[in-house]
Amino acid sequence: MKSFIEYQKESDFSIHNIPFGVAIFKNEYIACCTRIGDQIIDLASLYELSYLEGIEELEENVFEAYTLNDFIELGKEVTVPVRKKLQELFSEGSLLEKDEKAIENCFFELDEVEMLMPVHVSNYTDFYSSIEHATNVGKMFRDPENALLPNWKHLPVGYHGRASSIVVSGMDFHRPKGQTKAANEVAPSFGPTKQLDFELEMAFIVNKNTALGESVTTQEAENAIFGMVLFNDWSARDIQAWEYVPLGPFLGKSFCSSISPWVITLEALELFRVASPKQEPEVLDYLKFDGEKNFDINLTVSLTPEKGEETIICQSNFKYMYWNMAQQLAHHTINGCNLEVGDMYASGTISGKEESSFGSLLELTWRGEKPLRLNDGTERKFLEDGDQISITGYCLKEDIRVGFGEVKAKILPSK
Ligand code: MN
Repeated sequence: MKSFIEYQKESDFSIHNIPFGVAIFKNEYIACCTRIGDQIIDLASLYELSYLEGIEELEENVFEAYTLNDFIELGKEVTVPVRKKLQELFSEGSLLEKDEKAIENCFFELDEVEMLMPVHVSNYTDFYSSIEHATNVGKMFRDPENALLPNWKHLPVGYHGRASSIVVSGMDFHRPKGQTKAANEVAPSFGPTKQLDFELEMAFIVNKNTALGESVTTQEAENAIFGMVLFNDWSARDIQAWEYVPLGPFLGKSFCSSISPWVITLEALELFRVASPKQEPEVLDYLKFDGEKNFDINLTVSLTPEKGEETIICQSNFKYMYWNMAQQLAHHTINGCNLEVGDMYASGTISGKEESSFGSLLELTWRGEKPLRLNDGTERKFLEDGDQISITGYCLKEDIRVGFGEVKAKILPSK
């Protein structure tokens, strides 16, 4: 496959990718879009020009919308052929290549568009599915000998998070305030968090509504997943530590979570499937699965202080996940909880075995005991005002690269 649109070999957005997003074009109108290299393609206009004809069930211009929800609700029967059709249209020798007028109308440079939230997030759940992360946290806060709680290897632990405060990359946010109490204090105090952290995560987006009482099996689960994004689960550790007993994360998490603007389909990730880590002890029947359900996705986190230089602080990989997405969705629905189009399910912090692969400052600095040294000579235990965190991710096999782009945001002073 070779595209007539030129792009660098290192581009995340090769002809093998075909991501989906939503953008404002020239500050004038909003539409769903895709991207090749550094060209953004307005899908609503492409549809109007009849380039997406012949796909059954695609009877309306669902791309003329503020979110991808209507498009992804059509399911894989439509989203898969649309992606295929776009690959054909962008290939050398296509009809579109010769249609100068269409290219002029539908193709935009990066600086002519602003990316928006790709979906309306109906519900948000955060899992805790990296065994390395759960073990690190257990060692720090509980018993180093029994770091994992007894349930951890039997079910994908998770909690229901806040959907309304999930924002797209580039939206900076104010340091949250809240109630905290250090171990040596007798009473709690109020103020800006002193322990602001990031969490390196990925999230998947669901493409169907199910009825209450219905369950999705591990076999069916991937058919209900449209695609994935990069996810930063910003966390205020001091607020979290004081509030979380006994019901789990609350205001220490709900102030903001950031996602990358491009949704990468499971079809684009097909080539990068790998086996999951072995699960021992054996899981219950409803969590058993066949085939390779994990993905080899290289992940990098960098920190850039205000006016300072960038430092790479973590390199990890999605393939380390102990629980896969099919198991997460099967578990989520086993009690009859219904799915909604646009639901977002985050992985939990993705840490690996190496210290350099730990996916949060909490782990990288071992709860502040070992501060990180940055390239500009300063140190960090937790994030400071003006710090920007960027997460990038990509898959690479032989010459084929499929990437996620970036999710970044900067911390503004407390309001
Ligand atoms: Mn998290």
